[in-house]
Amino acid sequence: MSQVNVSLDQLRKYDQPGPRYTSYPPATHFTEAFALPDSAPQTPTLLSLYFHLPFCSRQCLYCGCTNIVTGDQSRSAEYLGYLEREFERRGQYMAEGSTVVQVQLGGGTPTFFLPEELRRLGQLVRNRFPVSAEAEAGVEIDPRALTKEKVEALREAGFNRASLGVQDTNQLVQQTIMRIQPPEMIAQANQWLRESGIDSVNFDLIYGLPNQTVESFDKTLDEVLAFSPDRFAIYSYAHIPWIKSFQKSFEDKLPGPETKLQLLQLIIEKLTGAGYVYIGMDHFAKPDDGMAKALANGTLQRNFQGYSTHKGVDLHGFGMSSISHAGGNYFQNHKELADYYAALDGGRLPVFRGYSMTEEDKIRYHAIMHIMCNLYIDYAQLSEEMGIDFTEHFKADIASLDDLEADGLLQREKAGLRVTPLGRLFIRIIAMRFDAYLKGEQRKGRYSQTV
Ligand code: SF4
Repeated sequence: MSQVNVSLDQLRKYDQPGPRYTSYPPATHFTEAFALPDSAPQTPTLLSLYFHLPFCSRQCLYCGCTNIVTGDQSRSAEYLGYLEREFERRGQYMAEGSTVVQVQLGGGTPTFFLPEELRRLGQLVRNRFPVSAEAEAGVEIDPRALTKEKVEALREAGFNRASLGVQDTNQLVQQTIMRIQPPEMIAQANQWLRESGIDSVNFDLIYGLPNQTVESFDKTLDEVLAFSPDRFAIYSYAHIPWIKSFQKSFEDKLPGPETKLQLLQLIIEKLTGAGYVYIGMDHFAKPDDGMAKALANGTLQRNFQGYSTHKGVDLHGFGMSSISHAGGNYFQNHKELADYYAALDGGRLPVFRGYSMTEEDKIRYHAIMHIMCNLYIDYAQLSEEMGIDFTEHFKADIASLDDLEADGLLQREKAGLRVTPLGRLFIRIIAMRFDAYLKGEQRKGRYSQTV
């Protein structure tokens, strides 16, 4: 993709707060009035399982995750005991005979857990369900908390994908965000993962961090490209100081929206120039990687972990703050550890809020996911898939796109709607036009900026 030109006026116009569409409606619409049905239909299905492992040894200052900073190693064993109890209790919502096609460990820092605990976690899944031979089992890795033994334990537990949290290799940026990872540490982690036979190594980077410049990030990209990762996830830094007050410490050092956009353009140019396929909003993959293939065959999906290769599966999240999406319901666990433990101690599922999708939500979810994942809406295809007349159903939404089309963000064709290379940079803005909850009084919550 070649460089696209964005005027300052366009940038000012489109740099607005907006949802990231890891769910529809966004989690700000979940309510505590929600109650899970007593049980779910016992029809075997495909399962995607997520385990939230919240502990970290130190606090990184850019972090937006739900985590707990502790030096007490014994807390991971205790937490694992609760995860096992939750997995057991959730049984009635995961049908016998279902097959696991995806497992993800996120955090926090999953590698805070000891090798035997990581093995136990793998066992927890395998004791209950068959895991597909093609399953993607991924884990987020903090290079500062990795050992060779942990990598071996992850392999034994069946993990075949790793996301290495690199963020930025620049020293000044690392100091500002309080996440120091010398180049040798990243190289060592990458080497252990490669030697262990992990199929796919992903590098996580963040643009828009304090003290980042186009020049400094250009160098960072050169350095990480030398490792030839299978995938990159390059997220836009989300500034949410009203939730994470420590982010205020570097507020005056954050790059402005213009620089952020230049950074994104640099990333796209550099990675596609190096042969990576640009996927969705923030992912890049080698052409032979499963994610690039999923994009090509239309099975790419967006969920709470970003983009994924499995479409239409039930997602079950375990651990504090985890979100599940199954049977047309979203439901989220308690965000505080004490509440999460207390619910399980009391013999209850630790769910504190959720949302039951309406038929209209499901239709809009489908349309928004098509925009975010495929960058194209085929009117006939979606009409058939959703049992509606798409152009009639979304008449007002499609008509509202005049300004986006005039600005070159998309093209309305006879058969569908196509996002342009420019529109890709503002993909959340396009998706927002199909979001019924952003209209008028239904708007709820605060969101990070779209650029
Ligand atoms: S290791 Fe990850 S979860 Fe923990 S503080 Fe740093 S960014 Fe946040």
